Parts: sequence; structure tokens; C-alpha cells
Amino acid sequence: MISTRMKTKSMMATPGKRIRLKDFDPAFKGGYASHAHAQSKLKANVQRLAKYQDLLYSSHTYALLLVLQAMDAAGKDGTIKHVMSGINPQGCQVFSFKTPSERELSHDFLWRTYCDLPERGHIGIFNRSLYEEVLVVRVHPDLLKQEHLPRFTGPSKKFWQHRFESINDVERHLVRNGTAILKFFLHVSKEEQEKRFLERLNDPGKNWKFSEADLHERLRWDDYMAAYEDMINHTSTAHAPWYIIPADHKWFTHLTVSNIVVDTLKKMNLKYPTPTNAQRAQIALAKEALQRGR
Ligand code: ATP
Ligand code: MG
Repeated sequence: MISTRMKTKSMMATPGKRIRLKDFDPAFKGGYASHAHAQSKLKANVQRLAKYQDLLYSSHTYALLLVLQAMDAAGKDGTIKHVMSGINPQGCQVFSFKTPSERELSHDFLWRTYCDLPERGHIGIFNRSLYEEVLVVRVHPDLLKQEHLPRFTGPSKKFWQHRFESINDVERHLVRNGTAILKFFLHVSKEEQEKRFLERLNDPGKNWKFSEADLHERLRWDDYMAAYEDMINHTSTAHAPWYIIPADHKWFTHLTVSNIVVDTLKKMNLKYPTPTNAQRAQIALAKEALQRGR
């Protein structure tokens, strides 16, 4: 079986090195033969994650931001559900970014996500994110017309370059100020997406998940892949790397994301805060008072 470290490292888009999505296999399963093999490992990761979250929360110094981007039906919702299932809801928030409102469009493109960043001690999950501004908006540049942009002369290469620079700058700022950032592209194949769409159509319990708009976006598959590739190549940085997660096998997606999250929290080397002398004195007094029955 391939070690966890090796697998996750090979999924990181190495900063400064150009990746091609076609070199990454969406059906990759590591050394695992099946779901059952991976299940106990995922369970253990969920427990470790709960422990690290408690440390993160008590230290109230760092935050962790997880960004999930993917084509429809790649499994963003399921990944959030399975990987985060054991953690304290008080220290974790999920935000889903859909079509922007008029108010959001009246601000710069970073604004709406900035407002929802995790506070110190918290884990924040972005289900879609500001990266939509270089994905759906890149595939449909007409959307830029509603963004009230100054001095806008068209969606040129330079225009997208400026967006990538803004994103890299804001992420660097966040990391410097204590927010660790992990970005996951759930890489599903076009064939697997078709299978999942058909399941949504055929299973009455899944009908609600189907949206006609998803089919329109599917028609632009190659344009999306080009946009994802360019986005990853410009914004996978040492401080906020992109991970290209194989997503044709849901259980492998969940296990891999959990491995990376747990590894990152472990490396943060978090410790419970040590009480100051004044706090120690207060603790001793409180104990005494309680023991005296007051
Ligand atoms: P699910 O389908 O599982 O409910 P979802 O994330 O696909 O989740 P939808 O409501 O189906 O949610 O789709 C949200 C849509 O909003 C997506 O098509 C996405 O591309 C679009 N969107 C998100 N951010 C922006 C943006 N900044 N500009 C334009 N469209 C955006
Ligand atoms: Mg959708």
C-alpha cells in the first residue's frame, strides 16, 4: 500500500511547476482496493481531526480555511459531510458561494468571500469561492458586464493575470496573519459526472439535486478544464497550494482530503494555552472555593 505522505504529495500542484490536468487520473485509488480498506483510516482521521480542532479552538491564534472547487456532482457536499462529521459545529462554518447578489456585485470580487473568512480558532469551509471569478466567469466572460468594473477593456490575458495576482496577494496576507489555506480541486471525469447526473435523474430521492443548468455547464467541459488548469498553474503557491483530488471514487476523495487536513493541522504543532501565573492563582482560588462549598 502506498504511504499517505506519498499519495498526498503527488496530488499537490507543485508551485512554479506547470501541471496538465490530463496527467492526473480522476479514478486513482492509491493502493486501496476498495472502500472497505479505506473506511477505518477515514474513521481514524475524523477522530484525529476532532482532537486537532479542539486544540485550534483553544489556541485562538490560527484558523484553517478549506476551499473546495469542482464541476457539478464531483462530490463537494459529500466531502464536507464525511470529512467534517466528527467535529464540533461551534468551531466550524461552511459557506456556499452561489451566483452573486447585486450588493456583492457592487464590491470588488474578493469582498464577499473576505467577509466569511474563519476567525481565529475556527475552521472555515468554502463550498465554491472567489475562484469562481476565474472559472465560471472566465468560461462566460459576459458575466463581467454586471460587475461594474472600472477601465474594463475586455477579458484579456492581462485581466486574468491581475485577478490571479490579487488572489495570491490576499492569500499571502491571510497566511501571514494566521490563516492556513488548503485548496482542493475535486477532479471528476466527464464519464463519472454523466453517471452521477443519470443517478440524480433516475433516483426520486436524488431528483432534487438535479439542475438543468448543470447540463449547460457540462457542454463547456473543455473550457472549464482549461480554466481550472490555468487557475491552478497561477495560484498554487507555497503558502496556499492546490491539491488535485481524484474524485471518481467518493471514498477515496474523502480519505485523501481528510489525510491532507489532518497532516496540515498536525504540522501546525498546536498546544493548549498554558495559564499565566495570575490565571494559576485564580484556578487555585476557584478550586478552594468550590471545595469549601461556596
Ligand atoms: P449543488 O448543486 O450541490 O447544490 P452548487 O455549488 O453547484 O451546489 P448551485 O446553486 O447549483 O450550487 O450553483 C451555484 C452556481 O453559482 C454555480 O453555477 C456557480 O458557478 C455560480 N457562481 C458562484 N460564484 C459565482 C460568481 N462569482 N459569478 C457567477 N456565478 C457564480
Ligand atoms: Mg449545482
